[in-house]
Amino acid sequence: MKITKIEAIPYTIPYHYPVIAASGTLDSAEHVLVRIYTDEGPVGVSEAVVRSFVYGESQASIIAAIRLWFEPALVGADPFAVEENNARVSWIVANNTAHGAIDIALHDIRGKVTSQPSWRLLGGDGKAMRVTSILTMGDPDEAGEQASKIASLSGITSFKIKVGGNPREDVARVAAVRKAVGEDAYIYVDANHGWSAETAIRALTAIADHGVDLVEEPSPAGDTIGRQRLAQQVPITVMADESAPTLADAARELWTGSARALSIKVTRTGFTESAKLIALAEGLGARTLIGSQADGMVGAAAGLAFGSAFPRVAGEPGELDFYTILSDQLVVDYLEVKDGRLTPSSKPGIGVEIDEDKLHHYRIDRR
Ligand SMILES: [Mg+2]
Repeated sequence: MKITKIEAIPYTIPYHYPVIAASGTLDSAEHVLVRIYTDEGPVGVSEAVVRSFVYGESQASIIAAIRLWFEPALVGADPFAVEENNARVSWIVANNTAHGAIDIALHDIRGKVTSQPSWRLLGGDGKAMRVTSILTMGDPDEAGEQASKIASLSGITSFKIKVGGNPREDVARVAAVRKAVGEDAYIYVDANHGWSAETAIRALTAIADHGVDLVEEPSPAGDTIGRQRLAQQVPITVMADESAPTLADAARELWTGSARALSIKVTRTGFTESAKLIALAEGLGARTLIGSQADGMVGAAAGLAFGSAFPRVAGEPGELDFYTILSDQLVVDYLEVKDGRLTPSSKPGIGVEIDEDKLHHYRIDRR
């Protein structure tokens, strides 16, 4: 079996409402659908989720990278040889989400050829994962109302609150959400580098009183000494996300004590490097949680199939319902959170089938 073609289709789906973080505001999904074709029929599917203010990629840059570099390097290769194929494209620096999408689509082909879901091929048993819902920065009372609405609609009991702005307002937002969802809910925060290390120490000391034990990217990762000092001073575990987009970055963050947890985002590190990140974290006693790049349902299905397969990850809540913020989806079968959990598809690969009419409607290269 050989790879014959790689397709990269840009599509844009509006959000129901803008999502505000300290690092930027998103109001639509600007993604790239990636499909790897083979000479024997099976087609691997994934989505590249553009995060310009994290990785400097765009829809246009991802398409160019795939056409200029990834496709010529991989056409003719055996799609099952995932390690070999990653080595063939390892010279392409950066392009995080393009690399992630290619790796996931290769794993999707494996599933389709063997008629097995990806979670089974990765060693999992298909268990459901507890879901974390991400709450946008904004008015504390509105955040509380949003959280209780999500909890009552889908039974979700884990929330990530965006912080990293005015510390007093951030603490008030956490307090309002805690009040709205109760003592038993799991709450963590993500500052997206928005605070200085000093501000983070003050804000997190107050936030810890609201039963919060995890903070993502509290301060600029470039301020290594500040980050290490705060990691030692606050009673909250620091999680690396955008400061650890690669295996080497994650090793540095964990080894230097800047972080004690990793956000695993399969749409940037694929299945192959994400598995290595989990092993690295396990060896160093760090937590691993499935994060969201603002994934649509294609990316969420991939994150779910992957996360479900690794007990260290499946035992933590995963950021898998960001797709609810998108006004529509490209897939035929929808994921649905029940009792706060998502069950991975038993269909082959990552378990998604693309709705061609919707793709035609939302693609922006052929209007
Ligand atoms: Mg984050």
